[in-house]
Amino acid sequence: MALARAATARVQRDDRPARVLIIRDTRESGEMLEAALEKLGRALTAALLIDAPDEEVVRRLSGRRTCVKNGHVYHVEFDPPKREGVCDQDGSRLVQRDDDKPETIKNRLSVYHEQTEPVVEHYRATGKLVPLHAERSVGEVFAEIQAALEQVEARA
Ligand SMILES: [Zn+2]
Repeated sequence: MALARAATARVQRDDRPARVLIIRDTRESGEMLEAALEKLGRALTAALLIDAPDEEVVRRLSGRRTCVKNGHVYHVEFDPPKREGVCDQDGSRLVQRDDDKPETIKNRLSVYHEQTEPVVEHYRATGKLVPLHAERSVGEVFAEIQAALEQVEARA
């Protein structure tokens, strides 16, 4: 919902074609945004879906380690500490928080699938869905998002 509110506020300030990111969101958020656009006489141009297979999401999220003292964050694969299990900055122990445990992530994913898939299907059915693949570096995903937005604006 926070995302929908932010997107709605942005749309009201801006008279360029609507650019909207729908990531892990619910039908209510989508409807709220579309209703706000309709009041302004505008339509949603596209819904970008940044997608990754569940195993990839679990792999990425469960690699996070947090320092017990000051909450410094590491990733076993993408941003490992110099010494395994020890914070570079203050020497504290690094732990995997409950939120980052595979079981918790899998539960969150099943809630996500339940709530978000109807939204994805809605935009797929109306031809507005732009699926993007998240299985690459942040820079590549960012470039892909920019290219998708340019195409959407050219079409609008
Ligand atoms: Zn630390």
